[in-house]
Amino acid sequence: MNNVNANDENENPSITIECSESIMIEKLKAIHGQDDPRFNVEQSAWKRPLKWSNIIILSILHIAVIVCYVDVCISLFHLETAIFSIIIGAMSGIATSAGSHRLWSHRSYKARWPLKLWFLIFQAITMNGSALTYARDHRTHHKYSDTEGDPKNPTRGLFYSHIGWWLVKKTESVKQAGRKLDFSDLYKDKLLYFQHKCYIPIFIVFGIILPTVIPVILWNEDPWIAFSICVVLRVFVVLHHLFTVNSLAHYFGYRPYDFRIRPTDHRIVNYISFGEGLHNYHHVFPFDYRINDRPQWELFNPPVSCIRICSLIGLAYDLKIASPEVVKGTVARKGCQALYDSIRSMKFRIVNAIFDWIIGISIALWIIYPALFYKLFTQPVIYI
Ligand SMILES: [Zn+2]
Ligand SMILES: [Zn+2]
Repeated sequence: MNNVNANDENENPSITIECSESIMIEKLKAIHGQDDPRFNVEQSAWKRPLKWSNIIILSILHIAVIVCYVDVCISLFHLETAIFSIIIGAMSGIATSAGSHRLWSHRSYKARWPLKLWFLIFQAITMNGSALTYARDHRTHHKYSDTEGDPKNPTRGLFYSHIGWWLVKKTESVKQAGRKLDFSDLYKDKLLYFQHKCYIPIFIVFGIILPTVIPVILWNEDPWIAFSICVVLRVFVVLHHLFTVNSLAHYFGYRPYDFRIRPTDHRIVNYISFGEGLHNYHHVFPFDYRINDRPQWELFNPPVSCIRICSLIGLAYDLKIASPEVVKGTVARKGCQALYDSIRSMKFRIVNAIFDWIIGISIALWIIYPALFYKLFTQPVIYI
């Protein structure tokens, strides 16, 4: 390092001061190679070719959400329709989290084909792309997190990491990053590959037609209302809940496990994303199927409950976790001990768990409250 004092600098402005950051980058380049996508500098995200198919689909969805939500507020609908939409929405969130994320992206456990089939059907109805595409992008996100090689690069802003990355074509850096990773296991998985190839028909049948037709046939719901609640509003809510993991959980929150990385632990994101919000933990221990270091009952995390139940009946096996010693050691070496929520008394943990599950479910259902209040104050009958 060249130590140059202020006077020297004034006399010769051409002298550059080597800061520790530039030394660090040179060391990283020596490890990863000069052409590693981490060190690329791409042009502004919005100067790149736009992905018009996604722009049109997402624009239609968001305009439809406004129309449908107003219509749902001023119309009468069956309680069963709302419950049905919440159930399939929750199942699609669990399938994305436990399936395309923890199973296929990270291989944090193994699953038998009936469970995979269930995940693939419900993951498809989220309109979040195929499980294979998700896993490919997600592995790239982890490997090149918060750099130009990251498809959802949060350094480009909150909007870009939330949904903006869907609106532009992939950069050369992201493609280069993807080429460096091995996705052969994903292409060898026959069910996964079939869902990837037939994603659009699967989404149309299971994501649009069946959720509209089932309420009409079983409890005589109005077809337009069934479509509004069980397709448009459900897709909108689940998509944005999942997107917050890429945006909010790379911006706001705590970093107890590794304070040097950008991903954070964020309670609200944990509730709305169904247990994906402890993102600092997840980026440090991506192989841990729990995405936290607590017992299954202690924190709101429906995918963990799902995986545990499936393991009891033999549909899931080889569940991987980080040992308490490894977690403690990591916090001591790279994390922040003051932010680490250490194990408390059993009484505290039980009360905390009850609150966490109640608050988690309540926050995840935020979409119904405005409509419910509107109906309470304007209509004598809430549901028919
Ligand atoms: Zn992340
Ligand atoms: Zn992940």
